Amino acid sequence: MSGGLPMRMPLAGLPARVRVHEVGPRDGLQNEQGIVPVEVKAEFVHRLADAGLTTVEATSFVHPRWVPQLADAEELFPRVAHLAPGVRLPVLVPNERGLDRALALGAEDVAVFASATESFAKANLNRTVDEALAMFAPVVARARQAGARVRGYLSMCFGDPWEGPVDVARVVAVCQALDGMGCDELSLGDTIGTATPGHVTALLAALDDAGLAAGRLAVHFHDTYGQALANTLAALQHGVTTVDASAGGLGGCPYARSATGNLATEDLVWMLHGLGIETGIDLGRLTATSAWMAARLGRPSPSRTVRALARDDAFDRVSHKEQ
Ligand code: MG
Repeated sequence: MSGGLPMRMPLAGLPARVRVHEVGPRDGLQNEQGIVPVEVKAEFVHRLADAGLTTVEATSFVHPRWVPQLADAEELFPRVAHLAPGVRLPVLVPNERGLDRALALGAEDVAVFASATESFAKANLNRTVDEALAMFAPVVARARQAGARVRGYLSMCFGDPWEGPVDVARVVAVCQALDGMGCDELSLGDTIGTATPGHVTALLAALDDAGLAAGRLAVHFHDTYGQALANTLAALQHGVTTVDASAGGLGGCPYARSATGNLATEDLVWMLHGLGIETGIDLGRLTATSAWMAARLGRPSPSRTVRALARDDAFDRVSHKEQ
């Protein structure tokens, strides 16, 4: 039996502490097929904060027509904004209209969503990469004027479903553009989950050479091909200390039961705590939260750690009965 915690066995050359950027309520729920009631979303955010997560991406101020799952952003944000002291609640803002809506509610952390590839920029934003960047420039400038912190997401940093492998130099160029606009942090997304650790190391080295140090970067890995934790370890070895993850692995392919998409926060925390890296997260509380959310969604969590710990609980209950 694990006792619910990994054995602690540090590895040299890794950061002492990692900040987990929890994306479940936004990236997770926007990719779920069903629409979750606003009071359940609010409780989800509260439970995540109670579990020790200090950054919880709450929702998106994209037009409700495009993401009906998050159409209740105006209702949700005030329910969570002041109830979790010390917890940052970033929100996605696709354009100036979205920024206005977010700032009107007092959002202090916003994120824009760019693409490294033309195909995905066209599919997701119906713009070229440069047109999308031109749209984000005034959003970033105005957000910063208003005192908000800005995260720049970059999709398709490694592979693209239409274009195949993505050129490292291309990703560096778009990162530099986002940096030039004034983004405080850049999150490198492996949107289709095809990256492997050598590719991660090569991209981080190229960004370092271009003046974008690891301290400014976050990594956003998907576990589609089972590579997310290996890629995370490569990023930690390069000095990255911010890792995106989704509680319970929420946000897998909405049409396939238990398909793997976002890296599950529990799987990440199991590895980080095993490596002796501090996160401030209570894995037991987090797992209970994901199990609770999975029950609300009516399907099991795809997280290996959530399933393993649930099995441990069931085993403990059986053995107590037998005693
Ligand atoms: Mg994601």
